[in-house]
Amino acid sequence: MRIIDEVKDAKTIAISGHIRPDGDCVGSVMGLYLYLQKELPGAQIDVYLEKPSAIFDCISHIGDIKTKCPADKVYDVYFALDCNDERLGDALPLYEKAGKKVNIDHHVSNTGCGDINIIEPQRSSTSELLYELLDPDRIDEEIAKAIYIGIIHDTGVFKYSNTSPRTLQVAAELIRFGFDFPALIEKTFYEKTYVQTQIMGRAVLESVRFMEEQCIVSMVSRRMMEFYQVEPKDLDGIVNQLQVVSGVECAIFMYETGTLEYKVSMRSAGKVDVAAIAVKFGGGGHVRAAGCTMNGTYHDNINNLSIEIAEQLKNYV
Ligand code: 5GP
Ligand code: MN
Repeated sequence: MRIIDEVKDAKTIAISGHIRPDGDCVGSVMGLYLYLQKELPGAQIDVYLEKPSAIFDCISHIGDIKTKCPADKVYDVYFALDCNDERLGDALPLYEKAGKKVNIDHHVSNTGCGDINIIEPQRSSTSELLYELLDPDRIDEEIAKAIYIGIIHDTGVFKYSNTSPRTLQVAAELIRFGFDFPALIEKTFYEKTYVQTQIMGRAVLESVRFMEEQCIVSMVSRRMMEFYQVEPKDLDGIVNQLQVVSGVECAIFMYETGTLEYKVSMRSAGKVDVAAIAVKFGGGGHVRAAGCTMNGTYHDNINNLSIEIAEQLKNYV
């Protein structure tokens, strides 16, 4: 499939990604947006997405993103990237009404929610997958930059096991465009504000290991978030920091989103399939990185997750 074949006759096109957009979501959505703007100058193309973190301000035309969805518009073609329809948030009614729905994703838990579904779980990122659907001769520096950002974020700068030889080939083709990739990596992936670093430090300090130190868990409450004046997007990276502790098979991080409601992030060193666990609790993701929203007290949630983790680790004793 080529993207251009799906939109040739479209006059109106919309693109969305998932709620709480991460680097791959923002990169793929903006990469596709910039590409379609170039290929179809006469078409109306809109992007609906929650406001991305300011670290992504380096992406060209990021300010074009609309955060409010109109009630009644019917698009000829609608792209849902890096998610299934359950995570489209406010854009879901618009997506459902569209003439043609195209779902492009790499989450193993996504069963496809479009008229056309391109779901390839072996891909490092939706951004890498998107690259394969574009005409390389029509990509320019700004499109390349957006896609590259998506790939570095979902691979942890080519560190996670989802990085394939093809991922590195695509990255090689992208950096040929000449953008300052070390600065992009530093500014969008590694750099943290002082409060982000402080709250990460606090979460690490208050973490607890359990199940013979194979699991580690920590939590940030709403009160802590208010104290440090941080938003959920400032908590990115905490679960990865927990995961680097030697001996840890499974890291869990939660932050409070409401009364007895927590957003849960999980990471696995390989033995535990955290996507399968997240799906059981209504979420999803990848084998080694997944998430869900859980209701109950912090300790109830840990207990419920532990049962699932223990069940999987049993296979290894
Ligand atoms: P993170 O822990 O970084 O938020 O997410 C890890 C992976 O799991 C990402 O690929 C993310 O898209 C996915 N994920 C996180 N939370 C949810 C959720 O509630 N539902 C689904 N379907 N996927 C999630
Ligand atoms: Mn992704």
